[in-house]
Amino acid sequence: MAEPTDGFDDFLPQALRFRAAAPLVDIGANLTHESFARDLPAVLARARAANVTTLILTGTDREHAEQAVAMARRHADAGLALYATAGVHPHDASRWDAGLAAAMADLHRQPEVVAVGECGLDFNRNFSTPAEQERAFEAQLGLSAQSGKPLFLHERDAGRRMREMLHAWRDDIGDAVVHCFTADRDTLFGYLDLDLHVGLTGWLCDERRGHHLRELVDEIPLNRLMVETDCPYLLPRNLPAKLKGRRHEPALLPWIVREIAHWRGIDEAELAAATTRTARAFFRLPMADPHPPATRHEDS
Ligand SMILES: [Zn+2]
Repeated sequence: MAEPTDGFDDFLPQALRFRAAAPLVDIGANLTHESFARDLPAVLARARAANVTTLILTGTDREHAEQAVAMARRHADAGLALYATAGVHPHDASRWDAGLAAAMADLHRQPEVVAVGECGLDFNRNFSTPAEQERAFEAQLGLSAQSGKPLFLHERDAGRRMREMLHAWRDDIGDAVVHCFTADRDTLFGYLDLDLHVGLTGWLCDERRGHHLRELVDEIPLNRLMVETDCPYLLPRNLPAKLKGRRHEPALLPWIVREIAHWRGIDEAELAAATTRTARAFFRLPMADPHPPATRHEDS
């Protein structure tokens, strides 16, 4: 049963309006995706109504990272705390060059940017060659070491190589989160041995392919676990009502927390509070609830 809630508009069916028991941080929201261009203010208002009070906007290439920073500034008065990441996704690694590296270093100096990434390795699709991916990733490990900002990592079918590269850099980089973790037990323990953080999405809510994750969720220490929608992708399959357009959004994060809490056998409110504490420490955000100033930026 969804809790009674105020502040939602009519877009979400009644059954999907669910306010988290404690404020949540969505550590992976691709709100610069074109599917949000139409109704972004409403998406942000629904996130707020669902008690998802902090959003980390994923920057997957230069263009999207710059958009994410601008979005965080422009909507600083939306009653949410908005931050961005800036990196080059392994799919786009073939575009890495000195100019891009300089642009990234510039972005990492912006106060809105709280992590280097999304970066990493994806040997599942190889849209860029493995060699190109390793080169771009290596460079971004260097940018993280340089800026002192934590890493927001993407890895698919490349767990072993990812661990080798992170191991080589471990003393130079700080915190790092493997976002949208979907791999197996050995990979998870390898990451935890490297003292990494883990981001979980609605993948776990998928009874067809999320099974193995359900048995792993209680192996992740609460001070290493964070939650994310990875919206508009990965709409959870445990939702009690159909959603028009099937676009995932931050307001649905409480459903993912509910699923994780269930499989972990702990109270939802406790899990919500713990993941928020972990995320605020990881991204070095203020530990209190966000109360952003009404008009911090007047641009565009
Ligand atoms: Zn990713």
